[in-house]
Amino acid sequence: MARNKGHLYLPYDEQRSIQVEYVHSSRDSAKTTVLMPFAVNDNWRREIVAAMQAKDPGRTTIQISNATSNAIKLSSRRPTASTPSPEPEMVVEPTAADNNRRAQNIVGNYLTQSGMYTDQHRSVLSDDSHVHRPDYSGFVSQVAANGAGAPAQAFAQAQHVEAITTPGPVGDRDVYLNPNNHNVFTLAHEDLHRIEHPSLQAPGSRLTPGTVEGMTEYMTQDASGLDFRTGGVPGQRGFTYRNETEAVRNSISSGQYTSQDVQRTYLRGSQSPTDRIVGAQNSQATGNQGNVTSGQSYVSHGNSVQGYGQPWNPSAATSAFTVSISPGRQAYQDMGSGPAYQPARPARPPSR
Ligand SMILES: [Zn+2]
Repeated sequence: MARNKGHLYLPYDEQRSIQVEYVHSSRDSAKTTVLMPFAVNDNWRREIVAAMQAKDPGRTTIQISNATSNAIKLSSRRPTASTPSPEPEMVVEPTAADNNRRAQNIVGNYLTQSGMYTDQHRSVLSDDSHVHRPDYSGFVSQVAANGAGAPAQAFAQAQHVEAITTPGPVGDRDVYLNPNNHNVFTLAHEDLHRIEHPSLQAPGSRLTPGTVEGMTEYMTQDASGLDFRTGGVPGQRGFTYRNETEAVRNSISSGQYTSQDVQRTYLRGSQSPTDRIVGAQNSQATGNQGNVTSGQSYVSHGNSVQGYGQPWNPSAATSAFTVSISPGRQAYQDMGSGPAYQPARPARPPSR
């Protein structure tokens, strides 16, 4: 029986490689998902595709998703026939402060590319005093306080929630991260909520919570170079806002609105782009799903996972992205890649 999981070694610097996991689709012999602990740009994507195809040329459809942890696994040994997956010699676990900066860079680099990142955004996201890492019982209390329903319900639900961002004026919102269920991409998602325009949270907003989450997650994945994202506890991982994100992606690919419209609506509350997004939302059933952690549409932005309870199945993801390899590629140590933090590398163009 063929192995359906393994490790890839991607060039990191002159001496070392990064070890990352891949998962072959069980249904599609051309499809493989590579799980990355940090945001990737186009150069990384080409590197990943090249490394996967060097290992298995039949894998022509490579998807990129998130690893379950932020740990960067470095190895100075190359795989050999007898040791196809050498153990990493060094595992770098980014600190909380590192992760705050990594998430800020993911969002900041992305919005800078489109000219949408303001001094206010930068100053809000630089303020780490609003990013909280409570212990689990403290997190459950926050789910109870910001979600809906009885504490017992919050307790059952909390493990599936990656994080919460409280409502309020930009700059006053607080993020609470689930100590057992989050990574740097979760924080990038919450950072977007921290700078989301207040009109999106106002009573009477025409954008449903599902559309707001779809926009948030669309930008998170676009900024991070992920084709889809997963979250959850072991054995119960699921796709993060899958339907909501697909609704936004489909609207963009069908020309109902643009990714620039998403940013203008989300960050500025601009009228015409909002009208286009509301129009698309109202024409799609899938855009109308509420936030599963929220009983009050604009109060809580619990970042939960669609379809949790189902085993995670990368091959079921539909946002495949096929890349052709161009020569002369070069690896970048991108924003958020661990020990060598380098500034501002462009992520993928926001045209997908
Ligand atoms: Zn959210």
